Amino acid sequence: MLAARDLRVTVVGAGPVACLVAIELRKRSFEVNLYERGSDVRLADGARGHSFNLTLTRRGLTSLDEHIVDMLYRNGVVLPQRVIHHVDGTTSCQPYGTDPDLHHLLSIPRGLLHEMLLDEAEKAGARLNFGFECIGVEPASGSATFVDGGAGIVRTSADLLIGCDGANSIVRHEMFRRGAQMRISQDYVADGFVEIRIPALTGGGHALLDAARDPDRPRNPRHGLHIWPRGEFMLLAQPNVDGSYTAGLWMPLVSEEGADGEDGERLGWDRVRTRRDVRELFESHFPDVVGLASSYAEDVLQWSPAPLKTVRCDPYHHGRTVLIGDSAHTLVPFFGQGINCSFEDVRTFFSIFDRNLTEHDAATALAATLPSYTEWRRPAGDTIADLSLAMASELKDRSGDVAFQTRKRLEKELHLRYPELYVPLYHAVAFTDTPYQDAVARHEQHRAVLDELCSRHDPADEVELIIAAYAEAIGRATHTPAPTPGPASQNGPRTAGAGHLVPAPRSGHHAVPGPRTEQHAVPGPRAEQRAAVAPGTDLHLDSAQQKELLDVVTARLMDFHEDLSKGNHPAWYRVAAAEPPKAEQQAPRTGTAVATLLDEIFDSALPDGMMHPHPGFMAHVPSGGLFQGAVGEFVARSLNRFAGAWAAAPGFARLETNVIDWFCSLMGYGEGSFGYLTTGGSIANFMALRCALERLPDHQHHRAAVYVSGQGHFSVAKAARLAGIGAGGHRAVPTDDAYRMDLVALRETIERDLRYGTPPACVVATAGTTNTGAVDDLRAVAALCREYGVWFHVDACFGGFFRLTRRGRVLLDGIEEADSIAVDAHKSLFLPHGSSALLVRDKTTLKQAFAIPDAAYIPELSQDDDHPDFMDYGPELTREFRGLTAWLPIKMHGINAFERCLDDRLDLADDLAGRLAALDGIDIVSRGEPHLPTVAFKVRVNGEAEADRLTERACELICSRGNIYVATSELPHEGHVIRACVMHHQTDVGVIDQFVEDVRWALRRLGEE
Ligand SMILES: Cc1cc2nc3c(=O)[nH]c(=O)nc-3n(C[C@H](O)[C@H](O)[C@H](O)COP(=O)(O)OP(=O)(O)OC[C@H]3O[C@@H](n4cnc5c(N)ncnc54)[C@H](O)[C@@H]3O)c2cc1C
Repeated sequence: MLAARDLRVTVVGAGPVACLVAIELRKRSFEVNLYERGSDVRLADGARGHSFNLTLTRRGLTSLDEHIVDMLYRNGVVLPQRVIHHVDGTTSCQPYGTDPDLHHLLSIPRGLLHEMLLDEAEKAGARLNFGFECIGVEPASGSATFVDGGAGIVRTSADLLIGCDGANSIVRHEMFRRGAQMRISQDYVADGFVEIRIPALTGGGHALLDAARDPDRPRNPRHGLHIWPRGEFMLLAQPNVDGSYTAGLWMPLVSEEGADGEDGERLGWDRVRTRRDVRELFESHFPDVVGLASSYAEDVLQWSPAPLKTVRCDPYHHGRTVLIGDSAHTLVPFFGQGINCSFEDVRTFFSIFDRNLTEHDAATALAATLPSYTEWRRPAGDTIADLSLAMASELKDRSGDVAFQTRKRLEKELHLRYPELYVPLYHAVAFTDTPYQDAVARHEQHRAVLDELCSRHDPADEVELIIAAYAEAIGRATHTPAPTPGPASQNGPRTAGAGHLVPAPRSGHHAVPGPRTEQHAVPGPRAEQRAAVAPGTDLHLDSAQQKELLDVVTARLMDFHEDLSKGNHPAWYRVAAAEPPKAEQQAPRTGTAVATLLDEIFDSALPDGMMHPHPGFMAHVPSGGLFQGAVGEFVARSLNRFAGAWAAAPGFARLETNVIDWFCSLMGYGEGSFGYLTTGGSIANFMALRCALERLPDHQHHRAAVYVSGQGHFSVAKAARLAGIGAGGHRAVPTDDAYRMDLVALRETIERDLRYGTPPACVVATAGTTNTGAVDDLRAVAALCREYGVWFHVDACFGGFFRLTRRGRVLLDGIEEADSIAVDAHKSLFLPHGSSALLVRDKTTLKQAFAIPDAAYIPELSQDDDHPDFMDYGPELTREFRGLTAWLPIKMHGINAFERCLDDRLDLADDLAGRLAALDGIDIVSRGEPHLPTVAFKVRVNGEAEADRLTERACELICSRGNIYVATSELPHEGHVIRACVMHHQTDVGVIDQFVEDVRWALRRLGEE
């Protein structure tokens, strides 16, 4: 029989919850190892990682040992009330309960609580390992892999693995990935917050205490949670024992225009950028704080607002692995229950284990604990997540409202008179142990009765009448008393003691959740979509089957896009979120239900690698892929018209030539120009070189040379090879300080080739290099090409369509002189991948390069250049009809919408560059003005090798958060750089804010490492 002392437990993380878990495990003699990626906060000099204050309530406090609770009371401040700072400058107090000694919050700096718990865990005998980042978990076996700061890999195995690794838990991610059949959802709220410090008065007093004076006992002021509710935003402040206050300013990340009928706009962080903005905000809305917090403007501007999210998952366990704390349920902090709920998780877990231990050995007891723990805690986690979201509007909006306060007074009075018949929801959540979900169910029932009475009577003037009617109504209804709150309100939190909550075995009314068919973070099948299109041997689908197939696919696609917009996919899957599709050698002999195949596509293949449709994807030159473009392509594919010859589908050929003509005119080409839609820039560049070679006699093709800058695209070298230019014909011309082709070097290279008998075939100028977005001097290259009679091609795959904008026209000046231009509409027109074109100034040059006359079996060929056969203008005969991918979105929105979106990308990139440049520790690779939307930057440090290493590491760290994906590159003058290209049509200020915050975070982590 195994005893607990024979069992090993690995805990990922050493936050407050992990420490409590370790204390409880050690009480039961388990061998415990904590692995924390950060450093030991107790050794940090001065500033603590998380400086915000936590409010502890009964659930949290009763989960801790009494001596810890005593320490907390000695170092924290008791808050028996809210103190509301109204817009007109007055204040009012809202007591939390009927007895301040029992019904209060205990406010404590998070850092202090954390340090105390680390000490206690260490004293209890847990081993704390700092600087170990968990990078992989085998949930079935309880083993985990960590990297330590020195990049060593450590593998652990244990009888139980506990994920206490917070909101962005890798343990949760790995459970999902490795077969846990989990439902995970992640929702961001619009708000972000920054912290502000209000210092102690000289001599150590609390500056806001006067505002919290008790009107009944004016000599006896009480502390409170100070709230300045201002509608969309609010300020909260909590006192500390040293006389200071830790305050938080909460506001939507993005401001909004006032809705119809409303005045003005709703303020957001994007409008609070300068000291002046902050001063105006405080002087208008929080004037009483201005004189008290001397550094409030610096505090606000120092950090980017931290975004908030809710994470739910189910189940909390898999194999030998379990989630406890924020890793299982991340809450927005408006109810102040995150850590309370997490500590209650710990208490519940060990209560179940202790009960199981009375009947089993330790190993069996542990295994039996996991499913019961999920069954108990998951409904609690989900409920408090909902309540926390709902509390936001109470704090920001309603807490200062007269009707709200009147109703609260009525509820308090009702509770005082009939504590068994009416328990305010806040009271049940904060001051009792009643499971959250039971508290809500009971409250809903009571609230409905009270609402009805308040609709008939005035809650301000008819209090007695309402109370009497309520007691009668509920008294009648409550033959079977509803679950009453625990003894908390009598005992108060100071009578703490672990093991208070011993859940009885469940009798099946809370069934263990069945197969998960609801919302998935990394999506899985929804139940209703599983109605499979029955596969058969008849390949034709009738119209009902076609519709069914489309419906099923559409539903899955919509789920994906919804998940993406909710932030449920990272910008980059560092590791696949599920088992990737297996390699298959043989085609299947029989069919499979479509629902199963969609699972393979959406659940298995999709959550892996780079997520190009993510608005935070900024590596290379991204292509978000307009949905409308994909629909255009789908329509074209399902109509399946042959577009190689005009006569085969004249209507569709016309739509495609229209798109080509639009592109030509957007580049400044005139009469006689034309083009060909290709699947990418590589093919377009190849076609350009093929055209260029037509200027030379056949026997010179192999010996010809093509010139492109050292920053040009590698596809040019490949295109040269495809076009028949010999291996030595590719010339990489050096660049100047701005990474543009050095024209003196170009001239010298051409001259040298001519001297040695190498015919120059083509100069390829780049309009938007991948590394920095540099644009060669197109007008000067055009002049040089004219002088030597060389074909002038512009690889404008990245930058071409920026010619729509004023700044782009400055940058691309001279492009209209090019003989040919390659453009990628999947980059600078935001279309799905595979939407490119080669455009030529003179239509006949394409035909000379690609037309093969006299194919007798295609008699319908057009003799009319106005009705071109695409087969004569490009390398393909059979090809899909490509035009609709661009045609549909451009027709739907008009080209002005694209111009605006491109202009916004330029603004966003400039904003990003400015904000990164302002960070201490970041150097921006100098950008010209104007510039395409690429920002290259590096970590500033003495010594090039170290700068390269730290830049690479910073890139890894930024990407590790999943919000942004960027990659590094190497530049001749700068060494390693991180480069971000702001090209996704959905990238907005919020994404840029997040980027800057992630860079800041990465710099902090680099400092710690
Ligand atoms: C602004 C704000 C105010 C809040 N106010 C309150 C409040 O008033 N009352 C309340 O009850 N709750 C509050 N909360 C919530 C509370 O802070 C959390 O519930 C609590 O910190 C969760 O603790 P945890 O140990 O589960 O996670 P965390 O505190 O996030 O700790 C997780 C630990 O795991 C480590 N880690 C993460 N990934 C890895 C990895 N891959 N490898 C190794 N280690 C890793 C982290 O470095 C960290 O140390 C608030 C939260 C915020 C953001």
